[in-house]
Amino acid sequence: MIDVKTAFLLWVIQANTLAILLLAIWLHARDQRHFLWFGIGFLLHASGLGLVGLRGQIPDIVSIQAANAISLFGFSFWAKGLAALDHRRAAQMIWVPPLLWLVGNLLPPIRDEFAFRVSLYNAAAAIGFATLALTAARARFSSNRYRALLTFVWAAQAIAGSIFAVFVLFHRPQSFADNFFGMWMGMIAVIGFITAVVILAKITMDRSQEQLQALVRTDPLTGALNRRGFSEAYQGLVDSSPLDTLGVLIFDLDHFKQINDRHGHTVGDRVLREFADVCRSLLPQRAVFARTGGEEFAAVLAISEPRDAALFAETVRLALADRSIVTDGDIISVTTSVGISISSLRDADLDKLLSEADLALYTAKAQGRNRTSLRSGSRTVTVPPAREESGPEEVDRQADRQVAILKRISAVAHKLDH
Ligand code: GH3
Ligand code: MG
Ligand code: MG
Repeated sequence: MIDVKTAFLLWVIQANTLAILLLAIWLHARDQRHFLWFGIGFLLHASGLGLVGLRGQIPDIVSIQAANAISLFGFSFWAKGLAALDHRRAAQMIWVPPLLWLVGNLLPPIRDEFAFRVSLYNAAAAIGFATLALTAARARFSSNRYRALLTFVWAAQAIAGSIFAVFVLFHRPQSFADNFFGMWMGMIAVIGFITAVVILAKITMDRSQEQLQALVRTDPLTGALNRRGFSEAYQGLVDSSPLDTLGVLIFDLDHFKQINDRHGHTVGDRVLREFADVCRSLLPQRAVFARTGGEEFAAVLAISEPRDAALFAETVRLALADRSIVTDGDIISVTTSVGISISSLRDADLDKLLSEADLALYTAKAQGRNRTSLRSGSRTVTVPPAREESGPEEVDRQADRQVAILKRISAVAHKLDH
């Protein structure tokens, strides 16, 4: 059996190694702050315990008061890291363990007796573990299983710490050598730490996997879904929609090649991003939006009636026409044509809906672009754009705009309904 001091030293080395590893990971992924906080937590914990281990060789105030406070600050940073992993701010309670220790040490009866100090340290550590357990229990990360396991490990340590804090008050050990139960406490702590670190590593790995999966479904330029993400999200919408009609819209930017030719590819890219922003900001709740080609986007809407899809298309079309994109010296205006197809949710077939929407789009382009055409049954109808005599389209603005759009849709609505 190794002696307490050697075990102590091994644990300090272990915790320091872990700290260096975590800080190195953070240096490569600075936005993942939890690695930084966990790393600092282990660094403080290990440094504090290291100083405790130097008891007798350095002044007591450093090896006792400062050392234990530093090691308890480790808990504060672990809790901070856990909250960061969950994208939350840590509760003020995380600072309680070191503060409790420091305040307790202001009282001479506690400061001067080993057993009381051990009791106080364990009570503070128990609060630290309880904070970790509570943070884990409330967290939204990972599966319920891992969350429950983490909560359990830390709650068990909080309970063990509390029991030990009371036990030493009766047993009154005079030194570490006299503190047989302390060895067991140390073992429980080490096993608990290793279990927690393994679970946290698994949670972090799962999260990276999820981020990778999200990346595979996303168009990097606009942040919209790509084709693959689109098919999956479409299926999700079909499976969950309480409404019984589906509208598929294809947006194709007008004369986009000219924008590229005149202003360059970078400006073209910016226009694509602006369009995606406009569309996303107007997208209703039950909808899917994706970039399905170079300057082609698609949206699927769960709707009550066909005119809802036409209303959305016209709102996006006018919002885009309204937006001027300023580049160095130039103001570019962009328009889009929209093709829509409609189906009952029950008979929805994405490929068929997309090719019908494509036919409608072709009609919108052929009729002069910057307009919306809708395919209903075997007919294609085009929503008449605002008439010239009522002035440019800016006339139907904001609140008036929706009314004006509905009026124009109503003019052809009798043709839309099957
Ligand atoms: P139409 O009104 O008939 O749709 O004309 P168009 O010029 O928009 O259509 P066309 O299909 O001739 O041109 C599409 C252009 O989109 C050609 C291609 O270079 C450009 N494009 C495709 N992907 C990207 C991209 O990621 N970035 C930029 N900047 N341009 C792209
Ligand atoms: Mg195109
Ligand atoms: Mg185009």
